[in-house]
Amino acid sequence: MSATTLIVGAGYAGSVTARALADAGRRVHVIDKRPHIAGNAYDEPDAHGVLVHRYGPHIFHTNGERIFQWLSRFTQWRPYEHRVRGVVGGVRYPFPINRDTLNMLYGLDLDEAGAAAFFERVREPREPVLTSEDVVLNSVGRDLYEKFFLNYTRKQWGLEPSQLKAGVAARIPVRTNTDDRYFTDAHQAMPLHGYTRMFENMLDHPDIRVQTGVDFSDVDNRASYDHIVYTGPIDAYFDHRFGALPYRSLRFEHEHLPQVERFQETGTVNYPNDHDYTRITEFKHLTGQKHSGTSIVREYPQAEGDPYYPVPREENERLFKRYEELAKGERNVTFVGRLAQYRYYNMDQVVGAALAAAKRLSESAASTPT
Ligand code: FAD
Ligand code: UDP
Repeated sequence: MSATTLIVGAGYAGSVTARALADAGRRVHVIDKRPHIAGNAYDEPDAHGVLVHRYGPHIFHTNGERIFQWLSRFTQWRPYEHRVRGVVGGVRYPFPINRDTLNMLYGLDLDEAGAAAFFERVREPREPVLTSEDVVLNSVGRDLYEKFFLNYTRKQWGLEPSQLKAGVAARIPVRTNTDDRYFTDAHQAMPLHGYTRMFENMLDHPDIRVQTGVDFSDVDNRASYDHIVYTGPIDAYFDHRFGALPYRSLRFEHEHLPQVERFQETGTVNYPNDHDYTRITEFKHLTGQKHSGTSIVREYPQAEGDPYYPVPREENERLFKRYEELAKGERNVTFVGRLAQYRYYNMDQVVGAALAAAKRLSESAASTPT
């Protein structure tokens, strides 16, 4: 019997690696401590039959042609372009900030060149741009920073924008046109029958065995596997030897509204300055589902709880590097994914990282003398 690879975690990192290894001829055993597959992308019908994302809204978008084609083996797609509004002073503005946002907010009638000139006038040039505060002030200046970014970031991370690396706020573009899509990637789509179904198809292979409800700490025959792919938090793998690596958590408050066809005009509405939650998402926008009622989720950021976000700041990355050094010494373990690599990855980036990890593993196995 050929040796088996153990994969810890059945989210994108684990499931993509599992399938790619199985396709390359390996036998794979996937475990997840949760009672389901798909990791944070898990979706399910709620008690009222509306398809919801248990761990918050997931919108697939990528410029990676290869990544999109690879996933397309396991799902058909529903084209979907996500739109978001940001509420300031009780008014819903297009977000990311674009020309319409400026015109609505300041009672202007700017054209594209006028919007560019506006940003040029109000921006506070920063050099170098190191933090998320730098990014926003450098592009849109203080008023827009305070209205749309400052309090949202405080709420989401429990930190000042000046304490977060530039990459966090740099996820959000600033536009002089009137494009109000949240993403501009070449591919923007939702799996037609949901993420969980896509993962079921991905893991449906004669050489993949899946066990949910199993924690890595309960696996006492680790030595019997030829290799381990670990996709959980890297600090937990090493028993927090150097101290806990901070991960930001969320509490999700799901609600079903009977006899409400449509709750809000866009998939997501952000509340930078009001409430303890950051945003409300209405799932029917994302999925296109028809239902007499609707289901929404509010996201409440918190320090404790399941790890959802690495916290991108210098000191955390220094601590991560220490764990990464330990990881390099674990010859038979590959660390991949948002928690294991401590990177603020989107779904498509995790697919890319997992495919690369599987390729490396297959190649190293092929070159190992027997
Ligand atoms: P995870 O999905 O976290 O999977 C890791 C798995 O490992 C988990 O299922 C966990 O239970 C399991 N595990 C951990 N430790 C153990 C252990 N000891 N034993 C057994 N199992 C273990 N990305 C986008 O591209 N678009 C979006 O719109 C988007 N929205 C998001 C919204 C929210 C609220 C969040 C939190 C993330 C969002 N993301 C989005 C990011 C996306 O969720 C991640 O990139 C992706 O799911 C990460 O996959 P992963 O496999 O690395 O981690
Ligand atoms: N952000 C903000 N105001 C908003 C939306 C986002 O200040 O209305 C900032 C905030 O710091 C957030 C980051 O931009 O954490 C990235 O936002 P994104 O929507 O990409 O976050 P995610 O969907 O990953 O939670």
